[in-house]
Amino acid sequence: MIKMSNGETKTDVILIGAGIMSATLGTLLKELAPDWNIKIFEKLGKAGEESSNEWNNAGTGHSALCELNYTPEKPDGSIDINKAIKINEQYQLSKQFWSYLVNRNLIDNPQDFITPLPHMSLVQGKDNVSFLKKRFEALSNNPLFQGMEFSDEPEKLKEWIPLIMQDRTSNEPIAATKIDSGTDVNFGALSRMLIAHLESTNVEINYHQSVQDINRTSDGGWELKVKHSETGTVERHKAKFVFVGGGGGSLHLLQKSGIPEGKGIGGFPVSGLFMVCNNPEVVAQHHAKVYGKAKVGAPPMSVPHLDTRFINNKKSLLFGPFAGFSPKFLKTGSMFDLITSVKPHNLFTMLAAGAKNMPLTKYLIQQVLQSKEKRMEELREFIPDAKSEDWDLVVAGQRVQVIKDTEAGGKGTLQFGTEVVSAADGSIAALLGASPGASTAVHVMLEVITKCFPEKMKEWEPKIKEMIPSYGMSLMDNPELLGEIHASTAQALGLIEGETEKELAYS
Ligand SMILES: Cc1cc2nc3c(=O)[nH]c(=O)nc-3n(C[C@H](O)[C@H](O)[C@H](O)COP(=O)(O)OP(=O)(O)OC[C@H]3O[C@@H](n4cnc5c(N)ncnc54)[C@H](O)[C@@H]3O)c2cc1C
Repeated sequence: MIKMSNGETKTDVILIGAGIMSATLGTLLKELAPDWNIKIFEKLGKAGEESSNEWNNAGTGHSALCELNYTPEKPDGSIDINKAIKINEQYQLSKQFWSYLVNRNLIDNPQDFITPLPHMSLVQGKDNVSFLKKRFEALSNNPLFQGMEFSDEPEKLKEWIPLIMQDRTSNEPIAATKIDSGTDVNFGALSRMLIAHLESTNVEINYHQSVQDINRTSDGGWELKVKHSETGTVERHKAKFVFVGGGGGSLHLLQKSGIPEGKGIGGFPVSGLFMVCNNPEVVAQHHAKVYGKAKVGAPPMSVPHLDTRFINNKKSLLFGPFAGFSPKFLKTGSMFDLITSVKPHNLFTMLAAGAKNMPLTKYLIQQVLQSKEKRMEELREFIPDAKSEDWDLVVAGQRVQVIKDTEAGGKGTLQFGTEVVSAADGSIAALLGASPGASTAVHVMLEVITKCFPEKMKEWEPKIKEMIPSYGMSLMDNPELLGEIHASTAQALGLIEGETEKELAYS
């Protein structure tokens, strides 16, 4: 880092935000270019406090083992598994990179952030059971989904999910799939570990520092205006490359940069709530992530699921998320976030999205107004005899879905994925969107690196392959390599099937 006479600083890389995305990009860059200076500016007092925090997301290691929205039914009745394959392959990259970090002692105690946990899908009703069976048939022969089981026999289901099956009086057909290679991930703990590792390699982490403006400099780099939230002091910091990893805060920052690639994009915030079980006897009776099917008209991020979680050395049970509407873009954001994100360049896109998504907005507002008892009714579809007093509500993180004009969807189309928006010269990149999110952080940050440092890729590729042996390859088409990777990541990350020491200690 160069300190200039006027108090400004100049560095190679600035990462805005200390969530899982910046933490992952910083860690990757430190391995690829150890000599580069990196600075992080985070507006809160700690790393991983917004969406990446363990209480703000569902902690599912998304690999499409149980999420039914990744395998839509086509009009001809067959199941489209393309998205499921893509997400599963992307999660394998994350597991390989985390294993590399553990094996090199760059982070330790993987059990503090990742735990093996069966992933299950559960459906009721004849049509849904037939959908699940078709999904199972389409996936179970694929090496990525090896080990998946299907059952529509209540006795078998009682073994798998006793809490869900006990006292179930309905005669409706019911079925589930189960796969033991799923994971629960504490992305908050992982973000903190990665940031602590970066700090030990002289990366400067600046907390309570909110980036307020981003401007081009005459040499093609960027100057950031940064305000200290406690002292009110304002500093200017220059960098050759900036990553906008502000989570929900990224859209405003991208707009401030003024790059043409950021024009015409809007954001639609969706809030979330979980119910958390406070009765240890109930918690002890469940051991899986069980995903259901989204209700008709509900957005994909409100698929209900009943999850065992491992948070703060405690086994917990969460149900949700219940989606809702709030104009904030961050949990700690402002009620004006949505309105101030509307600019002349995205006005028509936003208006079109508003008109198109009236039913969704109405649905989300209704969701917010739901009473606890109404939410308990939804929970009782999973646990028929769930008692109100055993469950508390917790507010989850905000997700800002991207809105843009697309060929397929027309003006103002709501997107449900993550998107990297970067300047043509690769000097700045921002991450927008929230799904599949943290699980695919390694894949998405490799995309940032490929887009922004194309001239370095030849030099960096051997190191990337050392960190992520399957980089650039399809694991589905290389079952042998997939087997090796499953074994080596399970070993490094402690993902040995069956009861781990941690589970035993927690039960
Ligand atoms: C309800 C819910 C459930 C989810 N479930 C899952 C799941 O099961 N599995 C999964 O993989 N993903 C899940 N996700 C998505 C996942 O949480 C996010 O994709 C991921 O955490 C985003 O990481 P990030 O680093 O981009 O953002 P964040 O973790 O939000 O970090 C952004 C950081 O930037 C800081 N910041 C913002 N603006 C500024 C500024 N101007 N200056 C300085 N700092 C700033 C913020 O304070 C914050 O610390 C879920 C999300 C939600 C909300």
